[in-house]
Amino acid sequence: MLTRNAVRAMRLTVLGSAGSYPAPGRACSSYMVEDQGYRLLVDCGNGSLANLMQRVRVDSIAAAVITHRHVDHMADLVGLYHLLRFHGEREERLPVYAPPDVLEVMEALLPGDDALHDVCQFETVHAGDRLSLGPLDVSLFAADHPVETVAMRVESTGVRLAYSADSGPTPELARCAAGADLFLCESTWAVPIGSRPAHLHLDAREAGEIATNAGVGSLVLTHVAYPGTGARAVLEARATFGGTVIEACDLDDHVVGSPFRPQAAPEAGTPGA
Ligand SMILES: [Zn+2]
Ligand SMILES: [Zn+2]
Repeated sequence: MLTRNAVRAMRLTVLGSAGSYPAPGRACSSYMVEDQGYRLLVDCGNGSLANLMQRVRVDSIAAAVITHRHVDHMADLVGLYHLLRFHGEREERLPVYAPPDVLEVMEALLPGDDALHDVCQFETVHAGDRLSLGPLDVSLFAADHPVETVAMRVESTGVRLAYSADSGPTPELARCAAGADLFLCESTWAVPIGSRPAHLHLDAREAGEIATNAGVGSLVLTHVAYPGTGARAVLEARATFGGTVIEACDLDDHVVGSPFRPQAAPEAGTPGA
């Protein structure tokens, strides 16, 4: 159970930690950032909507940011739309901030559906943009990935969270994560591999190097591709980063800017809240 102070802090909930495709007990990329009662959904990969529904009423999400159009980061946006359209109680449209091709994919996935824009309010974003979302200041950075992808920094009340999205090595990630209390970084490859596509993903040692260069407080490794193990990724990252390294797991909570880290469990008395 969270303490009173912890509830008031910025909190990151992992809703999907799998890399590129689901794995046993892991949905694809999705996270929820909560601060002062404001709930921001970050990515909505396949399988993650069920985890979101375990934690909160979907109507209570204030806005969503989708980092890029790959389905492991946005597929369940289709289900979220259907849920809100037919079973939701929102009075206003859900703002969805995303690079422009995310909307193109959504429209392609919903042929003949003319209600998407009645339910979701798509706002185009690019690297370099800054968003003011409730109590959260969100800054977007250019990830190094085959499609337009934004890494993001989220700040509020003196705490800072950074998220790499999907990216190969780029100095932009250290800029994005500079001074972050918590850096949520992809580590698709748990261990360095010799031959791999450029401009695509990181291994755990590279994630650790970026965390060191950025001077972050703690590093949470996510998007580790099965059958690579998160435990091995943590060991590899510790070779290049001296701070706390944690493996992201579905339905874990992380209190940003605090060493307090509860175990994976719903808030007492709030399932469906
Ligand atoms: Zn991905
Ligand atoms: Zn991707």
